[in-house]
Amino acid sequence: MREIKFVLSIDTEEEWDWEGPFPNRVISVENVSHLSTFQRQVRGMGLRPTYFLDYAVIENEYSRQILADLYKSEPEIEYGAHLHPWVTPPVVHAGSEASSHIVNLPMDTVSAQLRSLTKAIENVTGQKPTSFRSGRWGITDPILQELAKQGYLVDSSIYPFYETEWFSCADYDSWPLTMSHLGTTPELIELPVTAGFNHRPFGKAQSLHQTLEKPEWARFRVIGALWALRLHRKIYLSPELSSARDMIALCKQMLETDCPVIHMYLHSSSLLPGSTRYVQSESDKSRLMMRIEKVVNFLRSQCHLKAETITNAALGLRERGELKAHDENTVCSGLSQLVFRD
Ligand SMILES: [Zn+2]
Repeated sequence: MREIKFVLSIDTEEEWDWEGPFPNRVISVENVSHLSTFQRQVRGMGLRPTYFLDYAVIENEYSRQILADLYKSEPEIEYGAHLHPWVTPPVVHAGSEASSHIVNLPMDTVSAQLRSLTKAIENVTGQKPTSFRSGRWGITDPILQELAKQGYLVDSSIYPFYETEWFSCADYDSWPLTMSHLGTTPELIELPVTAGFNHRPFGKAQSLHQTLEKPEWARFRVIGALWALRLHRKIYLSPELSSARDMIALCKQMLETDCPVIHMYLHSSSLLPGSTRYVQSESDKSRLMMRIEKVVNFLRSQCHLKAETITNAALGLRERGELKAHDENTVCSGLSQLVFRD
């Protein structure tokens, strides 16, 4: 049976309403108290999660202690770094949506914030983190170079098939990449979350999606109609956003390619019912856990699923020569030429 690596990553951060106005202060990190139960559950599924910690959950003494205890008692987990610029010193007050994205901040600020976040995580674990994800996704070459300089080995900030006003990952799929074009030693590895469609090739599906999103098409609501008919669905492998059925449909498509890794993600705040719009009640939370389990069970029925933390998975993929080279022109930035790989 073919071996596929499985990564589960959790952005571990303060609670905030993603749909509401942008937060300028940390309201609460109460969700962290639900992590040990969550960890027990996913360990029970045979998973080895990676928790991307942001500064807020470490700064708070109560959650820091929980995280330190969890790290001690669970030798098979990884703590990576998750940079929310609005809570990481030197703090950038999110006066606008734009300033909440590190791709829009001066490099000096990003480097300084990365240093304080790295140090904070090292104080909890005794080890420097080796994996990174930006808050609200998006990355640039200079930030990737800075990551390598500060000892990081893996980035996971590319959000495939997605773009905002400030950066574009629209032409990226979920393939793990070696970022050798950056010229760093060692080479940084990009391991995006798994995203795609319920039909392939994904390149064609994405072109169709982009066409239908254009104003002249959007008014006919074709995307919604195709979704309802299950003819065309863009799917992210997150139990917050997608049903088990959709995630399994995506996994089926992924298994037909030779992509060597499947990467699911969620946010720690979903473990506290009521703090995100995705999980409003205990039954939503049970459904979220069931979704994870169903996808894992499905994958286990189809392949030899090897659950690993993100750094171990990335290094293993490099060792086996399973990373694709990153084209010089492909940068997760709205200003650059993007090349699609399928
Ligand atoms: Zn975040």
